[in-house]
Amino acid sequence: MAKLANYNKKRDFKETGEPKGSIPKSGLKHKIDKTKKLRFVVQRHHASRLHYDFRLELDGVLKSWAVPKGPSLYPKDKRLAMLVEDHPVDYATFEGVIPKGNYGAGVVHIFDSGYYDFIEASDAKEFLRRFKSGTLKFKLRGHILKGEFALVRMKGQDDNAWLLIKHKDRYASDGPYNSEPLCLYFH
Ligand code: MN
Repeated sequence: MAKLANYNKKRDFKETGEPKGSIPKSGLKHKIDKTKKLRFVVQRHHASRLHYDFRLELDGVLKSWAVPKGPSLYPKDKRLAMLVEDHPVDYATFEGVIPKGNYGAGVVHIFDSGYYDFIEASDAKEFLRRFKSGTLKFKLRGHILKGEFALVRMKGQDDNAWLLIKHKDRYASDGPYNSEPLCLYFH
């Protein structure tokens, strides 16, 4: 299936203000361009069920996971992250209301954004291989989310079920963490 076809199929762009999925011409180059800074974004999505969408720019798209409890800075938390359809890179700046009756209807706010670096993988090509094999390690450079994280696909379950885990480092929290109080101004 063409890239982002799944994303486009789920949405009616006459109805929703979300960006239409297209791949920038330079998109495919990104995976071999070592100098390119890759973005991450976490969007709080108050849909029928509140969740956070965690997205990493890779291979010309945003690889995306829906995280019901949101990201945590506490290394003992293993937050379920369901892999969903690739989103266009333009989605990283999207905020707004997805109208009733549409896919994902509800309110989207950016919780955090910035850039990320690979850990262990030497370039995007290798990072993409690791994505396919189900283990990603990376360092976030956001305003709230900083330092090392991993996304690991769970074995023997739904292929789309991953875990988002904070590694122990100086940015880790030493007790339970909840992103919701940081979002009070969104309500
Ligand atoms: Mn969502």
